[in-house]
Parts: sequence; C-alpha cells; structure tokens
Amino acid sequence: MAAAVTLIEHGARVVVFEASRQLGGRARRVTLDGMDLDNGQHILIGAYTETLRLMQVVGVDPQVALMRLPLELRTASGFHLKFAPLPAPLHLAVGLLGARGLGFADRVRAARFMHGLRAAGFRLRRDDTVAALLSARHQSEVLRRLLWEPLCVSALNTPADRASAQVFANVLRDTLGGGRAASDLLLPRTHLGALFPEAAAGFVTRCGGEVRLGTSVRTLDAGADAIRLDTDPAPFARAVVACGPQHATPLLRTDPRLSGVAQSIEGLEHEPIYTVYLQYPEAVSLPFPMFGFTDGLLQWAFDRGALSGQRGLVAGVLSASGRHEALNHPDLATAIHGELAAGLPNLPAPRWTRVIAERRATFSCRPGLARPAIATPVEQVLLAGDYTASDYPATLESAVRSGVAAAHRAIGH
Ligand SMILES: Cc1cc2nc3c(=O)[nH]c(=O)nc-3n(C[C@H](O)[C@H](O)[C@H](O)COP(=O)(O)OP(=O)(O)OC[C@H]3O[C@@H](n4cnc5c(N)ncnc54)[C@H](O)[C@@H]3O)c2cc1C
Repeated sequence: MAAAVTLIEHGARVVVFEASRQLGGRARRVTLDGMDLDNGQHILIGAYTETLRLMQVVGVDPQVALMRLPLELRTASGFHLKFAPLPAPLHLAVGLLGARGLGFADRVRAARFMHGLRAAGFRLRRDDTVAALLSARHQSEVLRRLLWEPLCVSALNTPADRASAQVFANVLRDTLGGGRAASDLLLPRTHLGALFPEAAAGFVTRCGGEVRLGTSVRTLDAGADAIRLDTDPAPFARAVVACGPQHATPLLRTDPRLSGVAQSIEGLEHEPIYTVYLQYPEAVSLPFPMFGFTDGLLQWAFDRGALSGQRGLVAGVLSASGRHEALNHPDLATAIHGELAAGLPNLPAPRWTRVIAERRATFSCRPGLARPAIATPVEQVLLAGDYTASDYPATLESAVRSGVAAAHRAIGH
C-alpha cells in the first residue's frame, strides 16, 4: 500500500492485487468474538518517519491514531528507564545514569556502551552477534537481561545470541541515540487496519486507482516493455511484488530470470511472534500501557484498555523462537496469566483467552545477512517488503520505506 500511495502521488495509474480478503498482511485487523484485535500487537516509534508521513497522506492523523509516550521502559521486576527531559544525547545519558533496578556500575557501563557506539558513528568493524558485542563491551549479565536483550528481541525479533550486532547498532542509532522524538513509543489507539492499510485503500480508490481483494497473482510474464499478470488482461508497465518472502518466491520463480532472486529469498530463515490476548474484568489495568516482564516467557504486556478503550483486555507479546512454542495454546495462555499474576498482585482469572501464533512473523535478523535488492534482473519487476535490503530489521517502517523506494524506481526517480 505504501508503494501504491506513492505511485498515485506521482500521477501513475495503479491496481493493487491483494490475495487476502483483507488488507494489512502481517499487520492486519483480526476480528474475534466481535472484537477488533490485531494479528499481533504492534508498536511504532518516533523514528518511523515514512510510516508517519504516509499515514498523513492518506488522511490518518498520527496524533489521534497513536498514543505518543516519551521512551520509558518499566518491568515487573522493578527496572525503570526513563529519558531525562534534556536535549540529545544528554536525555539518554542522564536517563541511563538514573535508571532504577540497576546498580551504579551497570548504569555507567550502559552509558559507556552507548557512548562508544556513538563515537564510532554506530558502525561496527565487523558484524557479529549482539551477544558477542555485549560481551566485548563488558555489559554485565543484569544489564543484558534487563535492558539490551529485551530491546534486541523486541526490535530485531531475533535472540541476542543469533541477532546481527550491526542492525542492532542501527536501531540504537535511530532510537536511543537519536533525538528525543525518534525514541518516543507510539502505541496504536486503533486496530492496525485503520492505522494505515484501510485508509490507504480509500486514498487509492478516491484517486482513480483500484484495490482488488481476494486476488492472488500467480504468474509474471515480462516482455520487452510491458508485464502481464494472470489476474488482468491488460499489460502493466511495472509490477511491484510486495508479498511476504515465502509468497514472493513462487511468483518470482514463474520467470526463470528471477530464480536467483527467489533462491536468495528462500535462504532467509524466520522467527515467530506470539500474541496472547487475555480478557480480564473491565476494572483490570496495567501500571503502564506497555509493561515489561523479564523472568519468564512473557516479554511485554499491553493494556488495550488504556490504548484503545478495550477495558480489561491485555495483549501479551512473545517475540522470537523459544520454549513457549512447545506449549499448546490453552497451556500457553495459562502460563502467561501466571506470569502476569506474579507481577500484578490480586489479578483475577481471565474470562477469555486467545493465542495468535505467527510462525513466520519476520526473517531472522542474523549477522552479515544478504537481503535482496528492490531492483531485480527483470526491469519491469521490483520487490518491496520488510525483508528487502536495508539498515533496518523487519518492521512496519522497513516495509513502508521499501514500498516508497520501489515506487520511485518504478517511475524512474
Ligand atoms: C505478530 C507480529 C508482530 C509484529 N510487531 C511489530 C511491531 O511491533 N512493530 C513493527 O514495526 N513491526 C512488527 N511486525 C512486523 C511487521 O508486521 C512486518 O514487518 C510488516 O507488516 C511487513 O509488511 P510487508 O508489506 O513487507 O509484508 P506483509 O505484511 O506480509 O504483506 C504482504 C501482503 O501480500 C499479500 N500476498 C501474498 N501473496 C500474494 C499474491 N500472490 N498476490 C497478491 N497478494 C499476495 C498478503 O496477503 C499480504 O497482505 C510484527 C509482525 C508480526 C507478525
């Protein structure tokens, strides 16, 4: 949808073919028992500049659709990091030095770690795992467990012992190391469909484009100056293949010139994300809209009552692969309730639970990973998606940026 909106902005005629009956892909609305939920609880940050810009283009006001909070990490174990109200980089340094739940030596180590990365322009001499970087920079076990590992797994959806240190450094550069606004947490006040894709479809159709739902493209047939798809008799000048990696490959394989690209995409490994919804009595709320847990399976709990008015509804997030994958859904929900109850005294039993497991939520963000470029050996075919080459891990922002870049390339900008 980011590519479609950008093409329309530049006067191109656009048809969007979406295999599903619903827009949004991995970041889509899911309606369960009459409730608008998300395929997975998502957070955005202030550094998502392209996503925020395009939301405005299609008529969504980020100030209304998102709750903006200065970065604050709070966990049930008593860890609390809050940015100081000072200009960058003092906001972080003073915030780290004042963090609760860390001893003085650890606060200094964390501040030194950030200072060292900043001094090197956030460029590492060679890419290694985040775990290796943290060891090399003398980060203690407590610091890793309370601060760096939760940040790594949330941002890269890959555990620190497998995650790319360079991509982690890029994320730290643009969040903790950026200006205060870049690190702000932006928590959706609405379901993900309304945040962008549904409004984007409205924009595309109002401007004369088409969005055809339930239409899966199965073949690409690129000639000298046009490309034909099995879904439409008319030729197109360009096709932006914006499927997730596992769906892009069969499509690309329909043109032998694209089999090398398909092969490189097939080389990507994936990590899951589980979202556990628990409906408690309406009076239940969390101490903070996004509350961390570091001692079990649960990583973050979101208070959907505080965010979107769904009172008593908690969304628990478990990023990346782990022990939880061995549990069946009812047992996992019971375990997550137990962990919530351990951190939140007097929590009653949930009335309703639901687990959404996205087994291929994102690619596994490993050191030195080769990700495919937007341009392909076939001029008429461009790729877009969170897995294409960029500085960033698989996020809404990397997907949007790739869509915008593919659109510019399609029109020769
Ligand atoms: C549970 C979960 C939690 C997440 N949390 C966060 C978060 O907090 N913050 C964040 O920034 N990111 C998060 N992400 C990552 C983010 O959702 C993805 O990076 C982003 O949605 C990827 O967008 P995309 O457009 O690249 O691909 P997708 O969202 O996969 O979209 C691809 C689309 O192509 C369609 N399609 C596939 N094949 C065809 C075909 N042959 N013809 C036509 N259409 C086709 C699909 O139906 C789909 O709609 C999360 C992801 C998950 C799963």
